[in-house]
Amino acid sequence: MDDENMDQQDRADLLNRYEVKKLIGSGEFCDVFKAIDQWSINNQSSTIVALKRLKLRQMMDPKNRFDCLREIRLLRKLDHPNIIRHIESFFANNELFIVLEYADAGDLSKMLDYFRRKGIMLNHKNVWNFFTQICTGLSYMHSKRVMHRDLKPANVLINRDGTVKLGDLGLSAILSATSDNARSLVGTPYYMAPERLKEMEYNFTADIWSLGCLLYELVTLYPPFYEPNQNIHGLMRKIQALDFVPINVQNRSGLFEIAYLINSCLVLEPSNRIDLDRIHAISKQMNDRYQLNPIGMEQDQSTYRTRTESNATIVDDESFVSFQSETQQQPQQHQQQSQPTTSSGQPKKLKQLYRNLKNIF
Ligand code: ATP
Repeated sequence: MDDENMDQQDRADLLNRYEVKKLIGSGEFCDVFKAIDQWSINNQSSTIVALKRLKLRQMMDPKNRFDCLREIRLLRKLDHPNIIRHIESFFANNELFIVLEYADAGDLSKMLDYFRRKGIMLNHKNVWNFFTQICTGLSYMHSKRVMHRDLKPANVLINRDGTVKLGDLGLSAILSATSDNARSLVGTPYYMAPERLKEMEYNFTADIWSLGCLLYELVTLYPPFYEPNQNIHGLMRKIQALDFVPINVQNRSGLFEIAYLINSCLVLEPSNRIDLDRIHAISKQMNDRYQLNPIGMEQDQSTYRTRTESNATIVDDESFVSFQSETQQQPQQHQQQSQPTTSSGQPKKLKQLYRNLKNIF
């Protein structure tokens, strides 16, 4: 049977291939399960996958259904260590399933949420490490002419070996375009470029805006335009005025390049935003410096005298050890508290997600 005919079929047989272990979390559009690919067990190596079940309000007609699958399947061409691999997608029992590479240490939003609650800042080595991997994944996507469209911490997945992978690639746009499930803005879209918020035309530079927001949050733990209890109009006003607290380059060392990149990404006119190649080059250069000498910039600059900034502590190796042991002992307590949320469904539990992140911290 060719692909087209297969896609019109209900593939409950394919679904049986996956043994569902547990619900990992829910997003606006979907539930995500940890599952085992049983066929691979037969081949003597069990493969854990993330099985996404799409909540489509109204099942599409066969034509739309086929278009949707074809679009999602285009994502299979993306093959990169910093991108969550798309394995398969199919309709079964009148629902759409997407099988993805599984990331075993959760996502960046959960990690940043932990840091926020503890009042701990990431050190520069970690900021550059994460950010460089995010840029590498995004550069690869753009080189394949695929926009991400929904870059935010919840869509940056983490593995225990420290690898960072972009997930949820372009899915929101595909689903909105091919189904009746037009994406509503649930929560406040803190990372979305102004032209998209205004529903104007946009292009690859919209991802650069989101990248700037991500970098800002890695450094300060909050997205640049965040304010508690803010509605979409308030957010748009703040964005239009570029009203965010600038990174204080005097306060902590090594922030000059970070502040430069943020200011060059958060530019209202899309065509004036910094080029991704340039961001990537600066980021790689900084990352190399910090990997060689994790506190290198601190030695370069006499401004770095204390390990505290306002009432937060910059995370160092010792504090990260306590972070790991606490999450191991109290996995249930990791709940969203002060975190600005951008989606309705949030995972209920943290399950020892960051246990083995020693390689990066
Ligand atoms: P939304 O898509 O509505 O904006 P979201 O990105 O939080 O929200 P999902 O992408 O549906 O929602 O993810 C829901 C949960 O599943 C999150 O906790 C996320 O960390 C987890 N998750 C998603 N994809 C994977 C994956 N490939 N491996 C491991 N966990 C994943």
